[in-house]
Amino acid sequence: MTSSSLFDVIVIGSGIGGLVTATQLAAKGAKVLVLESYMIPGGSAGYFERQGYRFDVGASMIFGMGDKGTTNLLTRALDAVNVSIETIADLVQIHYHLPDGLDLKVDRVYEKFLQNLGAYFPQERYGIRRFYDECWQVFHCLNSIELLSLEEPRYLLRVFLQRPLACLGLAKYLPQNAGDVARRYIKDPLLLKFIDMECYCWSVVPANMTPMINAGMVFSDRHYGGVNYPKGGVGTIAQALVSGLEKAGGTIKYQARVKQIITEKGKAIGVKLANGEIYRGKRIVSNATRWDTFEKLLPVDAMPHNEKKWQQTYQKSPSFLSLHMGVEQSVLPQGTECHHILLEDWQQMTVSQGTIFVSIPTLLDPDLAPEGYHIIHAFTPDWLDNWQGLSEREYETKKEAAAWAIIQRLEHIFPGLIAGLDYLEVGTPRTHRRFLGRQDGTYGPIPRRKLWGLLGMRFNRTAIPGLYCVGDSTFPGQGLNAVAFSGFACAHRIAVDLGL
Ligand SMILES: Cc1cc2nc3c(=O)[nH]c(=O)nc-3n(C[C@H](O)[C@H](O)[C@H](O)COP(=O)(O)OP(=O)(O)OC[C@H]3O[C@@H](n4cnc5c(N)ncnc54)[C@H](O)[C@@H]3O)c2cc1C
Repeated sequence: MTSSSLFDVIVIGSGIGGLVTATQLAAKGAKVLVLESYMIPGGSAGYFERQGYRFDVGASMIFGMGDKGTTNLLTRALDAVNVSIETIADLVQIHYHLPDGLDLKVDRVYEKFLQNLGAYFPQERYGIRRFYDECWQVFHCLNSIELLSLEEPRYLLRVFLQRPLACLGLAKYLPQNAGDVARRYIKDPLLLKFIDMECYCWSVVPANMTPMINAGMVFSDRHYGGVNYPKGGVGTIAQALVSGLEKAGGTIKYQARVKQIITEKGKAIGVKLANGEIYRGKRIVSNATRWDTFEKLLPVDAMPHNEKKWQQTYQKSPSFLSLHMGVEQSVLPQGTECHHILLEDWQQMTVSQGTIFVSIPTLLDPDLAPEGYHIIHAFTPDWLDNWQGLSEREYETKKEAAAWAIIQRLEHIFPGLIAGLDYLEVGTPRTHRRFLGRQDGTYGPIPRRKLWGLLGMRFNRTAIPGLYCVGDSTFPGQGLNAVAFSGFACAHRIAVDLGL
């Protein structure tokens, strides 16, 4: 079947990047169609329900839902289509359980965080303050300008004239990495390892490869807008955006897997679904990763030169081994925080199944689990290659062994976990690849080697006229607020291109 109607914009995928692009454009009057291969929206920010538990698929430490400044992009994206969601403030960003007895909570109050960290490194108190204060400088620059497309010269000129110092500040930090800045102020090797972990737990690379712009955002916004959890689970963000999209006249179709981006004379003009349906659009946006876009939706042998170059600069990060657990309330001691990082040996920080990330969203929203129970989502980086070439039985056995090894380690911070386990579902990199439609189940791009900060990251336009990319494989990278930034930028560029 062929659809004859012409859309202004077709968005492939309803991750947060895709939905922010779609809602921004629909709010400007564009005729927008979103095509999502799965049954619900959200991608890595989706959810699933089992036996009375509502699990977040991935993300649950949510930035960008504050109520002030300009960097609260999720709040702004929802506002733009007249929807909102209730949020619950998370007063501790992370409780770190690290080697060398480093047991530290990152408090929402900046001075309290500095005090807690300084107590472990009294000789470095001054250096700690100078490093994190410099992160604030980045944040203040970002938080004083409207965040739109860096590919739009008139916008760049306008913000430069309005906020010249902020723009110069950002230009200064754009090629820098957090580790280099940290090393200017800090000498203690253990403290530098801690800064590595501060970066690794969201960038999945150590500090010397983590762009300072991203570090400035995360290390400051946690004390400014703060980490806020959406009531009803992370899936409500995408659901609210979809309802805003529809109110603004946009359309979303589920179970609509795009198989091919159609080009004519080198220009993207439409998409073909797996079921053969064809949709035409003046502009096509791919919220699939750049690898999926240029290797699966377009002929790989015709990959534009600049995409090949990008792939030489950035590689796919590992995926995750994820444990979604339902546990008895008694497992969690009084005062347990929502987010934890567990590592027993610094040497293991970046290896497969080394660092364990934990989120317990029911501490903020108890309605996500049956009464008397909590959700523990534990996940750890892992490569698809570790899970390939196995028979069904070998795969299941390996999955079970890996899950129990993680649970044993978690017993150290949650004694009684094994006895109190009510439900367990395990996802491997294969699961991430299958359900999130992401090549190798990757979390997103990471630099192959040390780069100049964010300078190598691609924006939204591509070498194919009419085709744009949005989401975590575009500037500024992974994370819900980051992909929301990418969505604002993409929609802005398209709106200018379409004269909206
Ligand atoms: C385990 C885990 C934990 C995380 N924790 C956090 C966290 O605490 N905080 C945070 O901010 N971020 C976190 N993240 C990262 C964050 O979730 C992602 O960076 C972000 O959600 C990516 O959004 P996106 O728009 O780029 O794309 P995705 O979420 O990947 O969405 C893309 C969508 O496109 C659809 N799609 C793909 N190909 C096609 C096709 N051919 N046809 C139709 N549809 C298609 C997919 O089904 C999907 O719905 C986490 C990620 C994971 C995996």
